[in-house]
Amino acid sequence: MATTALERKLFVGGEWVETGDWLEVRSPYSGDIVGRVAKGGPQETKRAIDAAERAMREPLPAHKRAEILVKVAGQLGRRHDEVARLISEEAGKPMKTARVEAQRAMSTFTFAAVEARKLAGEMVPMDASRAGEGKLAFTLRVPRGIVGAITPFNFPCNLVAHKLAPALAAGCAVVLKPASATPLSALLLAELMEAAGLPSGWLNVVAGSSSEIGDVLVEDERVAALTFTGSGDVGWKLKERAPRKHVALELGNATPVIVCADAPSDTAATLAANSFSFAGQSCISVQRIYVLDDAWDEFVRGFVPKVEALVVGDPADEETDVGPVIDDDARRRILEWVDKSGGELLTGGETNDRDLIKPTVIANPAPDAQVSREEVFGPVVTLTRTGSLDEAIELANSTRYGLQAGIFTRDLRSALEAAQRLEFGGVTVNEAPTFRADQMPYGGVKASGNTREGPAYAVRELTEERLVVIQL
Ligand code: NAP
Repeated sequence: MATTALERKLFVGGEWVETGDWLEVRSPYSGDIVGRVAKGGPQETKRAIDAAERAMREPLPAHKRAEILVKVAGQLGRRHDEVARLISEEAGKPMKTARVEAQRAMSTFTFAAVEARKLAGEMVPMDASRAGEGKLAFTLRVPRGIVGAITPFNFPCNLVAHKLAPALAAGCAVVLKPASATPLSALLLAELMEAAGLPSGWLNVVAGSSSEIGDVLVEDERVAALTFTGSGDVGWKLKERAPRKHVALELGNATPVIVCADAPSDTAATLAANSFSFAGQSCISVQRIYVLDDAWDEFVRGFVPKVEALVVGDPADEETDVGPVIDDDARRRILEWVDKSGGELLTGGETNDRDLIKPTVIANPAPDAQVSREEVFGPVVTLTRTGSLDEAIELANSTRYGLQAGIFTRDLRSALEAAQRLEFGGVTVNEAPTFRADQMPYGGVKASGNTREGPAYAVRELTEERLVVIQL
């Protein structure tokens, strides 16, 4: 049961704004209203861009930006329980996982503060050519300009943090559109940034109709960069429609893992624990496990009972491992994909008495089934028996996605071969590819995106190099 019903206004130009229209935020578990948020549209988005433009006319020095980011990190630490509970309530995320997200958001702000203080260009060795003799040159890193940020429902706090904190570190003002299902954590972050001393206009949060707000962000020439995390369909269309803007996309995956016969003995446990947290609704939740012949029997024997032991239930309960998926449409789609997998159901495949999908494991699905090719974004894992490492790598590469992949083996040569041949932005060895630390360069290739996040990398993307040449 939700314990609070928050009412939040939009944050535009340093003011908390009502619009007369409200967006209801419901618990994906109980259906109860956990909050309502003022619903904005094109008018509020324009006002937000006006405010961001005014703010950027008076740049904030790096030490001030860093100080604000550090203060927000501190508040996230002090208000940890409240932040985790809010994430859990609006997203239906089990408290265990919500606590990790709240802690990670703190880490994201902390690393962004470091980047704000380090932000600098570089010297150019001018006398390395005859033409450069007698000249001194260096680059400055200047903010690109106003950033339009759009975020998904599944990490309502930390993925918002990955937009706001690096943008401020880079010296850019932001207009943020959070996911309609989960806008409360974003507005809490805005409250913390305001309390930390962020002057008006540097951050604006407008929740509401995605296409209306998105259209303004795409069309307004003052928005220099769009940073989007969400589904590929929406992301790639945004990029097409904004050819003159810098568009950074963090999109989906159908995360593969290869298990070799010489995998560490706790591999099945590691993968069982990492395939179902937040009911598989993480862009790097383990989805397709390719098990080599010699490892098959032992792996299946170890994996399935561990999956069956996961606690499915109320996300507010600290013991729960797997909660609800985000809404009824998602639940119906996931169960339909399971039905049409063409494989053998080893466990799950149905809902419990609270309509939660039980963690589901399918053996040897059809190669062209949706569960083998598309992003399930639900508590479903496939196990496919494969004859060789070569075949496993080929199968892992066989979707259009390329965010993260993993391999479990003790053999250095197999690990390095996989790292070189897996067409993904990141490859984990003897760790589930669900792993992410917030300072890592994180992002995809192929249909999974075109950027790297992690404050150091995002700050580079949100700044441009300006060359200064001085005749001595
Ligand atoms: P989504 O449906 O694409 O929504 C993401 C955001 O885009 C939401 O704020 C949504 O607003 C907005 N949006 C939708 N249509 C839009 C439009 N026409 N113009 C502008 N904005 C628009 O994705 P989701 O279901 O929230 O999130 C799940 C997806 O995100 C999965 O594919 C997952 O893999 C991906 N993801 C990727 C990463 C990564 O780092 N690579 C991390 C997390 C999630 P509304 O909510 O108002 O519709």
